[in-house]
Amino acid sequence: MLTRRFKLIYLSGGTSKKCEFDFSKRLFLLSFVAFTTAFFLLSVVVGGLLFNRHSAGQIASLEFKNSALDAKLNQADDRFEELQGKVELLAQNGNDLRLYTNLPVLDPEIQQMGIGGSLPYHESINTGAEGLLAKIEQLDRQINLQENSLQQVREEIEEQAEYLRTVPSIRPTNIGAFSSLYGRRRDPFTGQWEPHMGVDICAPTGTPVYCTADGTVLHTSRQPGFGKVLVVDHGNGYRTLYAHLHRFRSVKGQKVERGELIAELGNTGRSTGPHLHYEVLKDKRYQNPLDYMFDGYAMARLP
Ligand SMILES: [Zn+2]
Repeated sequence: MLTRRFKLIYLSGGTSKKCEFDFSKRLFLLSFVAFTTAFFLLSVVVGGLLFNRHSAGQIASLEFKNSALDAKLNQADDRFEELQGKVELLAQNGNDLRLYTNLPVLDPEIQQMGIGGSLPYHESINTGAEGLLAKIEQLDRQINLQENSLQQVREEIEEQAEYLRTVPSIRPTNIGAFSSLYGRRRDPFTGQWEPHMGVDICAPTGTPVYCTADGTVLHTSRQPGFGKVLVVDHGNGYRTLYAHLHRFRSVKGQKVERGELIAELGNTGRSTGPHLHYEVLKDKRYQNPLDYMFDGYAMARLP
C-alpha cells in the first residue's frame, strides 16, 4: 500500500511549461509529518517568545508598582512612628493629670498594651503591610486606654469640684471685727474660762450673713443661748452654725449656695452686743472656723 506512488504536476499559467514531481506515498507521509512537526515546533517557539515578551512587560510593570507600594509603605510607617510618639506624649500628660487628681498612674506595660489583652503586634510580624496593620491595631488599643483614663480623670475632677463646693471656705460676713476666737475664753457674763466653739464677728445689726458653702438649711430656730440660730448641712460631714441672728433670710429645707444671703446679723440670745457667732463642724467635731476661711480672714480683731 505504502509503495503506491504519487505524481504532482505543476502547470505554469499562460505557458505550456509543466513540472512533474514523482514520489512515493511513504515519502509523502514522511514529508507531511516532518512539515507538521516543524510547524508545531515553530508555533511553540514563536508563541513562547511572544509570551515571554508579554510576561517581561508585566513583570516590569509589577516591579514598578511594587516599588511604588514599598515607598508608600515606608511613608506610612514613618507617619505611624510620628503618631506613636504623639500618643506616648498624650499618655505621659495623662499620667500627670492622674497624679494631679490623686488617681494611680498607669503602669508603662499596661500603657503599651492598651485595652484588649495581649499584644497583637509582635516583632515576628513586623514586615510590610501586615506588620503595619498590627502596629495600628496596637496603637488603637493604646488610644482607647488613654480615652478611658481621661474620662476617669474628668469624673474625678468633677467629683472633687462637687466636694469642694460643700467645704466651708469663705467668711460669713464681708465686714466686722473678730471679737472672740475659737478656743477657751472668759465668759462675758460670768467672767469664767469656758470653751468657745466658734468665732464671734462684731458688726452692725442687719449686716448680711452669707452661707459659706453649698448645702441645705437644716433648721432655723430660737434657742435661749444662741437666740435666732440657723444651721446648714453641707453634706460630706460638714455643718455650719450661725447664731444671735436678727432675721432669717432663708427657710428650713432650702437649698443654698456658697455666698448666698441666708440671714442678717443681730443681737438675739445670750449676747452683749450685735455680733455673729459662727461655727464649723466636720463629722460632728468642732473645727476652728479660721481654718475654713480660704479667702483670708484679715478683719480687725477687737482688743
Ligand atoms: Zn460666740
